[in-house]
Amino acid sequence: MAKSIDAAHSETSFFGDVCQFFDHAAQFTSHPEGLLDQIKSCNSVYRFRFPIRRGNGFEVIDAWRVEHSHHKSPTKGGIRYSEMVNEDEVMALAALMTYKCAIVNVPFGGAKGGIKINSKDYTISELENITRRYTVELIKKNFIGPAIDVPAPDYGSGEREMSWIADTYQTMNPGQLDALGCVTGKPIALHGIAGRKEATGRGVAIAVRECVDIAEDMKKLGLTPGLSGKRVIVQGLGNVGYHTIKFLTEFGATVVGICEYEGAIYNSNGLSLDEVFNHRKSTGSILGFSGAQKEFKNTAEGLEQDCDILVPAALENQITMNNVANIKAKIIAEAANGPTTPDAAAFLIKRGCILIPDMYCNAGGVTVSYFEWLKNLSHVAFGRMDKRYEENANLNLVNVVEKITGVSLDSAQRSMIIKGASELELVNSGLEDTMIRSYHEIRDVQMNNPKIDGLRTAAFVSSIDKVAVSYMNMGIWP
Ligand code: GLU
Repeated sequence: MAKSIDAAHSETSFFGDVCQFFDHAAQFTSHPEGLLDQIKSCNSVYRFRFPIRRGNGFEVIDAWRVEHSHHKSPTKGGIRYSEMVNEDEVMALAALMTYKCAIVNVPFGGAKGGIKINSKDYTISELENITRRYTVELIKKNFIGPAIDVPAPDYGSGEREMSWIADTYQTMNPGQLDALGCVTGKPIALHGIAGRKEATGRGVAIAVRECVDIAEDMKKLGLTPGLSGKRVIVQGLGNVGYHTIKFLTEFGATVVGICEYEGAIYNSNGLSLDEVFNHRKSTGSILGFSGAQKEFKNTAEGLEQDCDILVPAALENQITMNNVANIKAKIIAEAANGPTTPDAAAFLIKRGCILIPDMYCNAGGVTVSYFEWLKNLSHVAFGRMDKRYEENANLNLVNVVEKITGVSLDSAQRSMIIKGASELELVNSGLEDTMIRSYHEIRDVQMNNPKIDGLRTAAFVSSIDKVAVSYMNMGIWP
């Protein structure tokens, strides 16, 4: 059978890496080759260029939107603003979105966008111009919409960019009731959802906590169960890295190392997130931080320091055959997309490490995006209808119990029991449940087949099966 164009991608490409992981896992499934090819291929790759006015002249901007899989609608995935972005990268990231959504049972196909700019080189009004024009180009080709394809933030983009996209889409689609569901990661004032900004980092921290809570698995690594006292190195102090550190610390871990592109810092007794963050904000660098015992100008050296858990939360291709032998961590939690190359991942697995794969580990972002999309389609905030009802019902219950038992609660106990759930609490509860459930789902797949080498392969097997079922239910494959 002829190889699909996508599968023929060079083995050194990022999309090639994702296909390599896919092919490795596919041998543990029993789907026909044609169906596997359909699942693996990128369905639609839209590459476009548009001009913006700059200074006295014009500049042409390169951009992409890739919809990897339409087994479910809409497709979903962030938009990366980066000088380094290219078609291969956007295809790889779109494919990862398909598998990611399948793993956490979020009913979307995968997609991703890219705009080839360094945001720092542009004024805010130029960025707005670029983002609005990018949105118009997507609208022209029917590549955006609440039922079609729903972008979100990614590296280099955030709430501000999402609000420009929402406003542009809404303006161009007057009267479309669900228009604000065309993009997620919006500010709360523009119908975003509480907890979306922290969601990816919170999800990573929950994933790591779930992993280290399994005594049987920790024993194999020679570690005690539980996050308390675990030493963590995090690469990246962006939105994902920052919140991963925040929640891991809250859960009891000690963050001993932080790496950024300008270098890395280390303190075996722990680093204070806020102090490091403020130091970087005022000096422009994490280097020179007074609370560090050691610092490294070469960020890669930071990854190689002593720790139990390493969290790459920056970009792809950070753990490769060039540095993998020096990595000391026994658990690698992939908060970034594609931080470990296939050969480096195989090396780590052979050494007995646990690798929590990107497609599961960073799925908290898209999980909460799903909640935001549901909120936009239902036009009501979570908890609005039932919060007060719940509080009154709880109050009645407490009053009756107090009367019957003669025991009265103090005011702190009363308010803890009576309180109805806020939107943030509901979002965090849905996120936590999703991350915990999905971890055990992929771990079970691994445990049930001793030939499956690690959680990534298990995660791919699980998501390939789910996407295959969707195709079979469409009647495309009998
Ligand atoms: N860019 C994020 C990711 O890679 C979020 C995607 C989304 O929320 O749609 O998962």
